[in-house]
Amino acid sequence: MESQADTSQIVRFAKLTELLDLGRANSLWPMTFGLACCAIEMMAAGASRFDLARFGAEVFRPSPRQADLMIVAGTVNRKMAPMVKTLYDQMLEPKWVIAMGNCAISGGPFVYPGQYSVVEGVEKLFPVDVVIPGCPPRPEALIEGILALEEKLTGTRRWPRVESR
Ligand code: SF4
Repeated sequence: MESQADTSQIVRFAKLTELLDLGRANSLWPMTFGLACCAIEMMAAGASRFDLARFGAEVFRPSPRQADLMIVAGTVNRKMAPMVKTLYDQMLEPKWVIAMGNCAISGGPFVYPGQYSVVEGVEKLFPVDVVIPGCPPRPEALIEGILALEEKLTGTRRWPRVESR
């Protein structure tokens, strides 16, 4: 009798997690935070032409304590890295990271033998959930990255995938 009660508790908890993940996926709150040219594309994604609001991720927050998504848009210099890490640490759990553009993914065009000023990939500072290649990626690519993150959270794709021509 005791074990049956335990099992039903677990099943209810799993359903609740699914429901919470659905809510989280459809209301991501990115942090207002940009480092270099890729951030201009990120801003364009939030503006009327691309309208990130259609996907529930337009509420850019000015404080890491109110955000659950960090979009690393731009070059992370070694001088800047401790501040970026502090912002990540100040975000509450659960939280997710998108590395937008080649600089955030690997250091991009600033990597050459002997370079000492650029972090060669933000993954060296904290875990990354989705990467969006490009220099810079277009706003549509950022939207696709957000859809990929939503899919990672819920296990299902909410919007049809558009094949490139
Ligand atoms: S990936 Fe290209 S566009 Fe983006 S921040 Fe680096 S240099 Fe600028």
